[in-house]
Amino acid sequence: MTDVLQARLRERGDRAVLPTYPPRPLAFVSGEGRRLVDEDGNVYLDLVAGLAVVSLGHGHPAPIEALARQAGVLGHVSNLYWSEPGIALAERLRELTGLDRTFLCNSGSEANEAAIKLARRRARTRSGPEKHEIVCLEGSFHGRTYGSLSATWARPKKEPFEPLVPGFVHVPRDDVDALAAACGPRTAAILVEPVQGEGGVFPLEPAFLAAARALADEHDALLILDEVQTGVGRCGAWFAFQRLGVRPDAVALAKGLASGLPIGALVAADVEDGFAPGDHATTFGGSPPIAAAALAVLDAIAGEGLVANAERVGRQLADGLGRLPGVAEVRGLGLLLAAELAEGGAPAVAERLARERRVLVNAVSPTALRLCPPLSLTAGEAEEAIAAIAAVLAA
Ligand code: PLP
Repeated sequence: MTDVLQARLRERGDRAVLPTYPPRPLAFVSGEGRRLVDEDGNVYLDLVAGLAVVSLGHGHPAPIEALARQAGVLGHVSNLYWSEPGIALAERLRELTGLDRTFLCNSGSEANEAAIKLARRRARTRSGPEKHEIVCLEGSFHGRTYGSLSATWARPKKEPFEPLVPGFVHVPRDDVDALAAACGPRTAAILVEPVQGEGGVFPLEPAFLAAARALADEHDALLILDEVQTGVGRCGAWFAFQRLGVRPDAVALAKGLASGLPIGALVAADVEDGFAPGDHATTFGGSPPIAAAALAVLDAIAGEGLVANAERVGRQLADGLGRLPGVAEVRGLGLLLAAELAEGGAPAVAERLARERRVLVNAVSPTALRLCPPLSLTAGEAEEAIAAIAAVLAA
């Protein structure tokens, strides 16, 4: 019966949905906290969290109630007009980041597009059209729209869609000399993830970030951090840059900000020659119900101590995984971790973890498992995950 249902969902999906994703092995019907339930009624421990998105866990009442309440009062009015929740969210992000102003949008890619446009707009105004280059890193992932895809490293994601946006340069991660060589009068911005997420969970060296800050200043360029994956408590600080000791000019946020509802944000310092009226826009960005939900998420993260929890349980998870035979290395910050497997075969291990142990992790590379659970993961659930991974690796 259930196989029939699953086959039917797959068939329906295959017929109706454009085939942009690899085959999807499971279909989920409900979730609560760190648990997801599939069509057969099997319950999974979720260490994927919708790809580092569901920061509060599944079904948390705070954003749901805030969304419903706000939607009942005022839904959408467009950015021709002010509405309170978007302003309140921008004010909160100013407090949390120490930066000045926010542009609200709908996704991580869109937040990066805004960042790239801010940098180019500013650079062109100050020094003319030659100053337009964006220096990025090998191994980076910034999204799938044209600007963010041009900033992304992986060739296979880009080649079918060429020509891309010109003016993006890539240098190896943590290579200060290469970064210095790539920067010059043409540089409009340096754009990096403080922890490369999709690239395999590689935290940048604080010294490299400090060098990026100095080079951006030297060349009158912006230092932009893509914290779409690392931000909003995920790395055991509100923002990874606060742990890594660097002050950016702008930060792109998205995933965890509304714990599963679509949102993006560019939070920027008040730079001279930045955006002016008419420069950039989005229809849905700052929609009152989504902004209200994001505020409720930020309140819940603060109220439930989830930033500290991410650090504490993240350490426990990292220590436990690091002790397992078969795990060569654990890297990451807070609850954004990767376990590098000595024997490789990460996709098969992830598949067996789901099938045999009902634990969801994601193979971020052929050799590494990524763990990015809800920030509310408990110590007991972390032990459960470690035991499950140990059992699959031992088998
Ligand atoms: N930037 C980073 C660091 C990401 O991890 C992602 C998505 O995984 C993106 C940007 C793109 O975000 P979105 O898929 O919301 O457009």
